[in-house]
Amino acid sequence: TKIPVGISACLMGEHVRFDGGHKRLIFALEDLAPYVAFEHLCPEMAIGLPTPRPALRLVKDPQGEITLRASNDKHQLDVTDAMEAFSRESVASLAHLCGYIVCAKSPSCGMERVRIYDKDGSRKNGTGIFTRTLQARLPWLPVEEDGRLQDPALRENFVARIYALYEFNQLLK
Ligand code: SF4
Repeated sequence: TKIPVGISACLMGEHVRFDGGHKRLIFALEDLAPYVAFEHLCPEMAIGLPTPRPALRLVKDPQGEITLRASNDKHQLDVTDAMEAFSRESVASLAHLCGYIVCAKSPSCGMERVRIYDKDGSRKNGTGIFTRTLQARLPWLPVEEDGRLQDPALRENFVARIYALYEFNQLLK
C-alpha cells in the first residue's frame, strides 16, 4: 500500500498556476512517487478561478483582516470568503493523509514567508489561506514546502514524520 500524501497540484507538473505554468517538483515525482499515493489539489482552481488568471496576494485590510485579492487593483477580485470556505470544507476530508507538500510563497498554498501587503506599504510574512487552515485543523500533519525540501536534513526529517504517522495510523486500524 502506498502512503497518502497531499500536494499542491502545480508541484505535480499540472499547468494550474496563475500564468498557466507549473512548478514540477522532481523530489515528489521521482523519489517519493514509488512509495506515496499523491492527492493533488489546486485551491485556486477549486474555487473556480481559471488559468491563466490575475495573480493573487494577501492584503491586510484596514480592520486588520487578511484578505486574498488580485495583486492588480483593476481586477477588483476578492476571493477571501471563497478560499476560506473551500479550505474549511476540503480540509475536513483530509484527515487520512500522512503528509502534505505545499508550494512556497503562494498566498493560497505557501507555508511561511508569504508576503502580506499592508495599505501603508509595509510587508510582513504569513501563511497562505489553504495551508493556514490545513495546519490549524490537522495540527499533527507533517507539512513542508517545496523550497525547504531542497535541504537534505529537512527532507529526511519530513519523510521520517510522514512514515511515523503512517505507521501510527496502521496501528489504529
Ligand atoms: Fe494552485 Fe496552490 Fe499551485 Fe497556486 S500554489 S497554482 S493555488 S496548487
